[in-house]
Amino acid sequence: MRRVIGRIVMVGLVLLSAAIAAGWVRSYLVADLAQYFRTTTVNATTDEQESYQFSSGNGGLSLAWGTTEFAFSTAQEEAENRRQSGYTYDGRFRLNWTNGDKWYGGSGYTPASMPHFLGFSFYAVSAKPCNGFAMTMPWALPLLLVGAYPGWRGLKAWRGRRRFAEGHCVKCGYDLRASSERCPECGTAIGASDARPAE
Ligand SMILES: [Zn+2]
Repeated sequence: MRRVIGRIVMVGLVLLSAAIAAGWVRSYLVADLAQYFRTTTVNATTDEQESYQFSSGNGGLSLAWGTTEFAFSTAQEEAENRRQSGYTYDGRFRLNWTNGDKWYGGSGYTPASMPHFLGFSFYAVSAKPCNGFAMTMPWALPLLLVGAYPGWRGLKAWRGRRRFAEGHCVKCGYDLRASSERCPECGTAIGASDARPAE
């Protein structure tokens, strides 16, 4: 049972790694921006807009969250703002946060340049009417976090299979062509682990 769960987790990690790798490649071809807005009423003349953003471009991805309070001058303005709420997608997004491009934060949407280093950046603003943060990272980071373990296991399994095929010990690589039953080097039973090195 534990082995079945392990297999399922491994398949999930491999699929996720493939999806991340695809996102990484895509980031060089298209600039994506997906955002979700939600508008709530603060009081009779003020609304608050909360947004969640995901964007990707030039080998990096960014996540942002923020709230902006604003006073609407007419009922139409408020209605228009509420109409814009919900999910939106922009495939022609041109801001490249990964390279420290502008992020619109602070009072009156003043453009702010994000400090950045090796594709990483973090920018936070906490001053009414704006609250929020934006962070960017290279696509390589999530790929490393998700793909390192299945990659290492895959490498081990591949090495074990190759050793088995060559008549070497699956575990330590010792030449077993003159041996039977057990590896004289590490004691692993010969043929017991069919290309599946010790856990
Ligand atoms: Zn051995």
